[in-house]
Amino acid sequence: MRDAFVYSANPSRIIFGRGKLATLADEADRIGICRALVLSTPEQAASALDIAGRLGSRSAGTFTGAVMHTPVEVTDQALAVAKDLGIDGIVAVGGGSTIGLGKAIALRTDLPQIVVPTTYAGSEVTPVLGETRDGQKVTQTNLKVLPEVVIYDVDMTLGLPERMSATSGINAIAHAVEALYAMNGNPIIDMMAAAGVRSLAGALPRIVANPMDLAARSEAQYGAWLCGTCLGAVGMSLHHKLCHTLGGSFNLPHAETHTIVLPHALRYNAPAVPGAIAALASALGASDPALELFDLAGRLGAPRGLKDIGMPESGIDEAVDRALANPYYNPRPLDRASLRASIAAAWAGGPPQGN
Ligand code: NAD
Repeated sequence: MRDAFVYSANPSRIIFGRGKLATLADEADRIGICRALVLSTPEQAASALDIAGRLGSRSAGTFTGAVMHTPVEVTDQALAVAKDLGIDGIVAVGGGSTIGLGKAIALRTDLPQIVVPTTYAGSEVTPVLGETRDGQKVTQTNLKVLPEVVIYDVDMTLGLPERMSATSGINAIAHAVEALYAMNGNPIIDMMAAAGVRSLAGALPRIVANPMDLAARSEAQYGAWLCGTCLGAVGMSLHHKLCHTLGGSFNLPHAETHTIVLPHALRYNAPAVPGAIAALASALGASDPALELFDLAGRLGAPRGLKDIGMPESGIDEAVDRALANPYYNPRPLDRASLRASIAAAWAGGPPQGN
């Protein structure tokens, strides 16, 4: 049990359940959106059109140019469209990339947002925005960017390919893992983290076996909500710092990087966080959670090593230097030799080593 804590809930309205996308127009009315700009990536333009149709006269138009890492140039283009159309709200349909664009617009306009998530990344329930300017990704926390309404409808996740489902789900698990040893953790978030890990770890193998398994998809989406809520409520540590650093330095894909790094970051921190390890052991049904997360990723067919997703071996020392510069809070002090061994193991793709 934690001896002392502060708990503050983020003010989001969560609507969860199959078919709940049908409530979209009512939700827009409820928060006073009469002229929405519907956002998506180019790949999900058809979903944006479907959403615009559901909004009817409440849709002012679509912007389907969202891309990974929220570059400010794309935000400027979307803002110009928003201005031309005279919008009074944002509806984002997609994963973290599209949601990031909606947040970037909200940051600059304070417009209300409704989000329809289609991955498990969790951005929809966080007040966090990472934006890229001149190749540098800078993250900020601001309640202005927290979406007012989130509609989780499992049907919107059915098209997410198996491999992306697996890595996106482990990306969500990573939020919960680090929440369990956050400096500002609390018992509510601990419960959400354990339940989120349990849901996702149980659902992901079923999704990979059958991507149309509605019950498994729904369980994963529930887990993603819980894990995203953890990310939005408490601070993250070594794992998120490493993924941020590696992704930015070597342009690595977001969810795959999380999937590969997580067992190694957890193994690094394990000696300092016995309570988190006990909670994860129970949630995962395994005595060594770091090894179990490595094995789970293998069973799901996820990439094993950073070398497999584009990181050069010569980047290991650079990654160590960057992780040691302006480090986040971490429960175990960062020592160069152990950190290097962890990053080298993640690069090579073997199981988590030592502690
Ligand atoms: P993504 O949004 O980049 O989506 C990846 C691709 O999958 C896109 O082409 C997208 O259109 C497609 N896609 C998404 N859902 C689909 C579906 N159901 N069916 C078919 N295709 C689908 O992926 P992501 O992992 O959700 O987001 C990654 C980004 O989100 C990163 O930039 C990351 O930094 C950010 N993120 C931010 C937060 C936060 O709290 N600010 C949290 C998590 C992730």
